[in-house]
Amino acid sequence: MPVSEAQDVKALVDGLNFAEKVERSLLLLSEAHAQYGERLVVANSLGKDSCVVWHLAKRVSPRIRGFVVTTRFKPSQTVDFMRQTVARYPELQVFRNDAAIPERLHVSDPDRCCDLLKVEPTRRAVAEMNVGCWVTGLRCTEGRTRTDFEEREERDPGLLKLNPVLIWHEREIWQYLALHQVPVNPLYVQGYRSLGCAPCTRITSGPDERAGRWLGTSKCGGECGIHTRPLRNPATPAPGPASLGAGQWS
Ligand code: SF4
Repeated sequence: MPVSEAQDVKALVDGLNFAEKVERSLLLLSEAHAQYGERLVVANSLGKDSCVVWHLAKRVSPRIRGFVVTTRFKPSQTVDFMRQTVARYPELQVFRNDAAIPERLHVSDPDRCCDLLKVEPTRRAVAEMNVGCWVTGLRCTEGRTRTDFEEREERDPGLLKLNPVLIWHEREIWQYLALHQVPVNPLYVQGYRSLGCAPCTRITSGPDERAGRWLGTSKCGGECGIHTRPLRNPATPAPGPASLGAGQWS
C-alpha cells in the first residue's frame, strides 16, 4: 500500500520494527520525490534526526537539495559541524537573519526571537528555493509538543510537509546513525539530546528529549515555530540577507 494513504501512524511507533521503519521512510521520500522532483527540499537542522533524514534522502537521490537555518546564537560546535557538512554537500544552502534585534530578546520574548531568527529564514528558504515539499526530521516521541503531527501534512496550502521519520524512536535514530557511520554534532558526546541555540539549550535527563530547550521559561520543551507557524505569506516579513554561500557564515 502506498504510504501516502491514511494510516494510524501512532500505532506504527511500536508496531513496526527498525528495518520496516527504514523501508517506510525511504518509500515516503521516494513517493514525494517522484511527485515533486527538485522542488522536494530537506530542512536540515543538523541535529541527529535531520542527519538520518538527509542520509535517507541521499539514498533516494543524491541530487536532492536542502537548507540549513542558522542563527547568531548557535554554539561553536554546531557552526563547525555546519561548515563541515556544507563543504561535503554544497547542495545545502544556509539561511540566516542578521537583522538587528533587541538585546537579550531570547530572554524577554523567546517566541519573537525564534520568529525572527528561525521562522523568517525558513520562510525565505521555502520561497527562494521554490519548495513544493519540505522534509523535516520531526518525530512524534520527542516531547509533549510533537505528539500530533502526521507523516504528510499541508498546513500551508500548496506546500507539503513530509516527516519521514515521524514514527522512529530516539534509539532507532542512533541505531541508524551508528549502522551507517553518519557523522553527528560533537555536542551529543557531552550529553545533549536536542540541540538549539546556546542560550536556550541545556543538558537534561528524563523521558522528554526536548526538556532542555528553553528550560526555565514558559516555552520549555516547546517549539521555535517552524513546525507551528505559517511558512507562506507572512504578514510581516522581517528584513535579512539572502542565503549565504559557503564560507560566509560565522
Ligand atoms: S532558540 Fe533562543 S536564541 Fe535561538 S532564536 Fe529561539 S529564542 Fe532566540
